[in-house]
Order: sequence, then structure tokens, then C-alpha cells
Amino acid sequence: MAEIVVVGAGLAGLTAAFTCARRGHRVTVWEQYNHIGGIPYSHPAVDITPMEPTVLGEVIGMDLGPPQIVPAKTVALYIYGKRYETGGEHLSLQAVERGENPYSLDVYLYQKACEEGVKFEFGREINSNSIAELPPYSIIATGLNPELYQALELPSTNVYGYVAKGESNESPRVIGWFDDYTRDYAYYASSNGITFGLLFDRKPMNESVRQRWEKQLWEQEGIKFSSWHPHEGIVPIKTPTNPQFFWKDKILAGTFAGMQDPVMLFGVHGALLSGKIAALAVDDKAGAMRLFRRFTSFFKYSWMVKKTILDIPPHPVRKNLLRPIIGLWEKYPEELKFSINFALGTIPGFRTLGKYRNLIPD
Ligand SMILES: Cc1cc2nc3c(=O)[nH]c(=O)nc-3n(C[C@H](O)[C@H](O)[C@H](O)COP(=O)(O)OP(=O)(O)OC[C@H]3O[C@@H](n4cnc5c(N)ncnc54)[C@H](O)[C@@H]3O)c2cc1C
Repeated sequence: MAEIVVVGAGLAGLTAAFTCARRGHRVTVWEQYNHIGGIPYSHPAVDITPMEPTVLGEVIGMDLGPPQIVPAKTVALYIYGKRYETGGEHLSLQAVERGENPYSLDVYLYQKACEEGVKFEFGREINSNSIAELPPYSIIATGLNPELYQALELPSTNVYGYVAKGESNESPRVIGWFDDYTRDYAYYASSNGITFGLLFDRKPMNESVRQRWEKQLWEQEGIKFSSWHPHEGIVPIKTPTNPQFFWKDKILAGTFAGMQDPVMLFGVHGALLSGKIAALAVDDKAGAMRLFRRFTSFFKYSWMVKKTILDIPPHPVRKNLLRPIIGLWEKYPEELKFSINFALGTIPGFRTLGKYRNLIPD
């Protein structure tokens, strides 16, 4: 039995803490805020991710599903102004509630960790000086904290944009926008009475861009948010070899470890899986490293695909690339399910978890 410190009570940290405690270790989680649920201005939120909750739940050792994770029934995409729509089941798309409300995934994981005897120290923050002083085998799962990327010299890319949150009783849905005002995208999602909007890009964005999207939200979908908050963050997608599992004698987890999809930046699936693998590293470094490599082997290829298809082409080329692809997907979702799932292999473990789950110990 070891004394394990987990830094960060997000999806990866909580999953890691739960697993370590289940495996017989004494675990304490240090969280910078005085609450579960992350950055106050962007929560409560609805994150969208492809996921097979039953399979992932079996791997991490807890039931995943409603009310925290709900299938997104309708998916619409605007590609440079043209609207496409299909059912979310073709993508196994889930709406995940985040934040500190009772039905959020963060609160669910927190409760599961408490049931296993995990202790929490809220309001406890590590910084670039104190990180080296953490005990060996500490698990660092600090998500998008910029200072720590610099401290560990992990290559990262800045993102800028706006978030908005509101309320609505509509059934879970998601709408995405690809347009000439961002090299990334914007999305709107709703679930459990919460609505959420995020517009982002890898260069600083001004109010006029946000106003353009706000106008589209209203005119195209009748959606209105009462206030917006600027968002600035950091993501570990700068180089094709970004994922990193160890730093000295510490274990990295979640987005901080680069367990993220470098194309659309889906991070929820990778965070949960990565929390589990990080906990396994406490008892078996080499075995956990093999699993980490297996589930991030996609990264360099999808990183290159993103560069060539989404980042480099000018907007008119992107438009003419994306429209036919999305048009086919709208027309033949069932027939194209296999290739869509293959493309979603950029999400750590999404496509391969069923195949490899027997290799992952409890
Ligand atoms: C606005 C926004 C929208 C997103 N939308 C989606 C989406 O739709 N789909 C999707 O799949 N992913 C989405 N993501 C990404 C997803 O949220 C992350 O990938 C996921 O939360 C990563 O989990 P994590 O455990 O690594 O980090 P987090 O869940 O961010 O948790 C990190 C925790 O560490 C704590 N912490 C940070 N620094 C310190 C410190 N120095 N000391 C102590 N504690 C610290 C934080 O307070 C937090 O509780 C989005 C991210 C953002 C910012």
C-alpha cells in the first residue's frame, strides 16, 4: 500500500484516485479550487464526445450513462453556411454534463472516489516550484493549467475564444459550425436543462467574430445567450509527439498527458481512460506505459491529417473538402458508420477499447 497524491480533481484525476484507492492505496487529491467542477466561468457546461459508455465504464470500473452522460439525439453541422443533419447514434455521440451540479460527471466521479475512501484537500494548488517536490508516483492531472505545461516543458498551443452558458428544457442536441471566422470551430450543446456554447481558434479573437457567431446562432437556430465570457486556454497538440506519460518519477494523466484527440480536441474520453492507466502505473510502470503508448499511437497520424486537411488549406479549399464529406455522411449515415468510427479513432481508446479491454487490469 502506497500513499498517493493526485493533483487535480477533474475527470482524469478523479478516475485515477478512484482506481488507486480500489487497488488498495491511500489516496489524497489536491484541488486548486474549493469545489469540484473546474473553472467557474465555463461551468456548468455540456461537453460532447463520441463514447460507448458501457465499454468505457467496464474499463474504469464504474457505471457510466444517464443522467451524467446522455446520447445526443440530433446532430447538425453548418459547413460554411450550409446545414447538414443526422442522428447522433451514428457517431455514438454523448452529451456530458460538467461542473458542480448534482448530475455532472465531475460530481459523480467525486462521489465514487469518496466511496472508495479517497481524501480531498480543496484550495491546495501546486505551481512550477512545488511540482518537483511532490512525492514519487504522484499523479498530475491538472488539465489545461498553462503554468505547469511551461514548468514541465510540454509543448502546447494556445487557444482563444468565447464561452456562454444558459438554460433550456430541450432534448439533448449538438450543433457545430465550421466557417471562415475560425480555423477551429464553434459548437452549441444542450443536456439536463443546461445549454452551452463555445467558439474558439488558435489565434486571438475579437468581439466582432463572436458577434458574427452570435448572429448565426439566433438567425439559424433561434438560440440566444444573455452573456459571454472570453476564454483563453492551452492544449497539448503542438507537436506530433506531444503525449507524455512520465515526468521524472511522476505520472501524468488526462489532457496534461496529451491523452486528447488532436483533430477536434475531444478530451473527455481520453481523460477517463488515462486516469485509469495512470493509476495502474503506480503498481506496474512498464505495463501502464505499454497501454499509454497503445492508446496514443494514433496521435501523430491524426495530428498530420489535421495539419493537411484542416490547418493548411485556405477557407475556400476547406469548404470544398468538407462539404462533400459531410454531405455523404448526412445521406448515408448507417453505411458510413464504419468509416466514421475509423476517423474517430483520433480519440484515445474510442475505437479500440473493446478490442483491448482484456489487456487492462481492474
Ligand atoms: C471550454 C471547454 C470546452 C470543452 N468541450 C469539450 C467537449 O465538448 N468535448 C470533449 O471531449 N472535451 C471538451 N473539452 C476538453 C475537456 O474538458 C478536457 O479534455 C477534460 O476535462 C480533461 O480532463 P482532465 O482531467 O485532464 O482535466 P480537467 O477536467 O480540466 O481537470 C483538471 C483539474 O485540475 C485542477 N487544477 C489545475 N491546475 C491545478 C493546480 N496547479 N493545482 C491543483 N489543481 C489544479 C483544475 O481545477 C481541475 O479541477 C473542453 C474544454 C474546455 C476548456
